[in-house]
Parts: sequence; C-alpha cells; structure tokens
Amino acid sequence: MRIGIDLGGTKIEALALDRAGREVFRKRVATPRGDYAATLSAVQQLVQQAGEGTVGIGIPGALSRATGLVKNANSTWLIGKPLKQDLEKALQREVRIENDANCFALSEATDGAGKGAAVVFGVILGTGVGGGIVAHGKVLAGVNAIAGEWGHNPLPAPTADDLPLPDCYCGRKGCIETYLSGPGLSRDHEQRTGERRSPAQIVSLGDQSLERYMERVARSLASVINVLDPDVIVLGGGMSNVARLYTEVPRLWVRHVFSDRVATRLAPPVHGDSSGVRGAAWLWE
Ligand SMILES: [Zn+2]
Repeated sequence: MRIGIDLGGTKIEALALDRAGREVFRKRVATPRGDYAATLSAVQQLVQQAGEGTVGIGIPGALSRATGLVKNANSTWLIGKPLKQDLEKALQREVRIENDANCFALSEATDGAGKGAAVVFGVILGTGVGGGIVAHGKVLAGVNAIAGEWGHNPLPAPTADDLPLPDCYCGRKGCIETYLSGPGLSRDHEQRTGERRSPAQIVSLGDQSLERYMERVARSLASVINVLDPDVIVLGGGMSNVARLYTEVPRLWVRHVFSDRVATRLAPPVHGDSSGVRGAAWLWE
C-alpha cells in the first residue's frame, strides 16, 4: 500500500492507495499550528491508522540540500527542523518528503490531467503561487530543491498597468505571486477601484481586474513555456476554479511564446484538492 500525507498549514490529510491506485483510506485532522512535536505526533497517528505501507509526505516547503532541514515553509514552525529524520524515527521506516506543489504535479501527471504526457508543469494559484515539474513520470526536484518555483520570479514584461511593483514577503518586488495569488488579485482590484473584494467576488464581477489577471497569468506562463516547453500545464489552488482561464490564457500567451504555434495544453486538475495527498502517495513508484 502507498500512504500519502499532505502536511498543510491548516489541515493534515492522509490517504492510502492500494496496488491498483484505488483509495482505501482517507482522514484529515486540523494541523497543530505552531507546535512541532504535536505535528509529528499527528502525522504518526494518521500513518498508524492508515496501516502498513510506504509513506510519502508533501510539505509547504522543501528539505534543504545543504542541511537536510526544512526551508521555504510558510508553516514557519517546521523551518529548520529535521523533519525527515524525526518522522523516520517515529514511524520506523524510510519516508519521502517533497514540496506540496511537486506532489500536486506528480498526482496530475500520474493519473490526472497530465496522464501520458512527457513533461507536466503543475501550478498552484492559491494564497501563494508555487509550481512543480514532472518529467517522464518523475519529480524534477533540482539541485537547490526549488525546481518549478516560479512564484518568486519577477512578473515578465511589466507595463505601466503593473506599477508600482508590489512588495513581496520574500524581500523582492514585483514577484509573480504578488499578482497571481488570490490575495494578489484582491490587492490589485482594491488599488484600482478602492473596493475590497474577495477573489471569488472579483471573478464573478468579470471586469477589468479579471482581464488584467488573465493577461498576467498568460505572460507568466509564457516564460515557463519558453524555458521548459511542457506538454501540459495543470492549474491547482483556488484560482484554478475560474473556467475562463482555460480559454483566455492560451489565447493570450501566444504572443509571448517564442514559437510559430503553441501546442502546450492548459488544463484544470482532475483530482482537485486531493492532488496534494495523492501525489505524496505516488512518491513511491
Ligand atoms: Zn517573492
């Protein structure tokens, strides 16, 4: 059996897949925020309930290649902790840990929207913006463990409409995340109209704020296509529910892609919110 754990900032979800990839167990609990020892123990209990099998874990961050400790996690109480060693000791077995966006991409590449594709770029457009790359069925993690992390690249080809460049929590200005996250869309709309609206409200208004958003998604993904040239880009996170993205963005990205035609598909996720935990399970082939 393959056990997957999605260790998120608000919930920890566990799932077990049998040999055929069928779901045979699923449970979620609230994340003990700020408490590392309680987080370890919550994961341990979920794995025990799921039963015997391999364990893959998706985290909102990565294991540093230099130290083996957790880095880049917005669940800050995990940062600097030897999560892999601690969980292996608690669970008495080897565990595999990957960034949650990488798990999302792996799930969709394995039996989702990117099934059968050679190169899949999985994108999270949620409270943050992340990404993961799966090539020929395997996660491409990278020498710095940041492959696919396009959210903290600068927004490509900024126009007067994109200024002033927003400050990002990472210390840079004008990061893609500051425009394409849900909070980024709200901020942009408020800056233009003076009205505070949720991303869902802005989407249903369908006005210029959404037009600007889609055009920025197109520019940002075009620069990914120019580097990676993926067969499929799968969107995840809250903004992936916006149906117009799938027709508008491929129309808009053409002028920014260095090719006579663009065969890359833009697809919604097949497994939706479950992709993180499914991909964690698939970390063991
Ligand atoms: Zn940033």
